Amino acid sequence: MKKVICILFCLMLFSGCGYSNVASESFESMDTFMKIDIYGSADTAAEIRAEIENLDSLLSAQDDSSEIGRLNKIGSAEFSEDTADLLSQALELCKDTDGALDISVYPLVEAWGFIDKNYRIPGESEIDDLLKNTDYRKITLSGGRAYLGSGMKLDLGAVAKGYAADKAVELMKQNNVRAGILNLGGTVAAVGEKPNGEKWRVGICDPENTAAYFGSVSVSGKVVATSGSYERYFEQDGKRYCHIIDPKTGCPTDNGTVSVTVISDSGTKSDALSTALFVMGIDGAKEYWRSHTDFEFILLDEENTLWLTEGAEAAFRMNKDYEYNMKVIKA
Ligand code: AMP
Ligand code: MG
Repeated sequence: MKKVICILFCLMLFSGCGYSNVASESFESMDTFMKIDIYGSADTAAEIRAEIENLDSLLSAQDDSSEIGRLNKIGSAEFSEDTADLLSQALELCKDTDGALDISVYPLVEAWGFIDKNYRIPGESEIDDLLKNTDYRKITLSGGRAYLGSGMKLDLGAVAKGYAADKAVELMKQNNVRAGILNLGGTVAAVGEKPNGEKWRVGICDPENTAAYFGSVSVSGKVVATSGSYERYFEQDGKRYCHIIDPKTGCPTDNGTVSVTVISDSGTKSDALSTALFVMGIDGAKEYWRSHTDFEFILLDEENTLWLTEGAEAAFRMNKDYEYNMKVIKA
């Protein structure tokens, strides 16, 4: 089953304004749906799609023949330049978020049944055992080769779409494509501007109705990534267990956060931080944002309070059907 994504609308009016050279690709990759619309040639759109599909084949933890799959099987593996580059960026982000992002949580993700969909609540001792092997600091990268501590497994699922967005934007630049909107399963790269010179509007999913959006942000030259408990979860005895694991407890994150959207110049950063801020919850997210000035975020909690950093508030517009209580976070 594909990850549920809401339809991100990007109010693109392709008609008029001389923007006739739109090339599009719609496809499934990285276990989600992707749609690329660029003001460029069909060849460039196809090149971007091929690049993303190639990254998927390198990075999938569920595929034993991928570079990550091989690493997980035998504990060490030679990495291509892209995989090594992403691993090194991801390790930096794990450190910078003090382990809220931890790319070694895969055995826990498996234990809770999020990989084979046999959802279950593992026992305390099982979780404790798995937590002993959950520590990104035991992953090393040296001379293009990655090594894992014993019993560990690597999962770049929290950052792969963001990295793919960065690579796609790079390809657009190389091919002199000045505008486009790339929706990689909810991680959206907004490049350049709309034909009429306005910024792109990227919708943010309504967790209660994933076919709708509660608002949008107007952006240009940014990547907007959202992590939400509605994306993958199971329910047992009236309680929801989501796919984002708190690496400190080994359990699905349960801190009142429903979704986090991050806006930054870097896809890898936006994707990593949407996951990490979800784990941190509103207090941790505020504190992290105040000590980092290079991104903005929007966090929706269970009480329908919508927390927005100053920069995010300036870019945000709420859909008229929604009445979330907005709270602006000042620097
Ligand atoms: P995202 O949808 O970008 O928030 O990424 C969530 C995916 O990353 C999950 O499906 C897991 O495979 C993995 N994951 C879950 N929790 C974490 C975490 N705390 N740090 C890193 N990856 C995680
Ligand atoms: Mg993420």
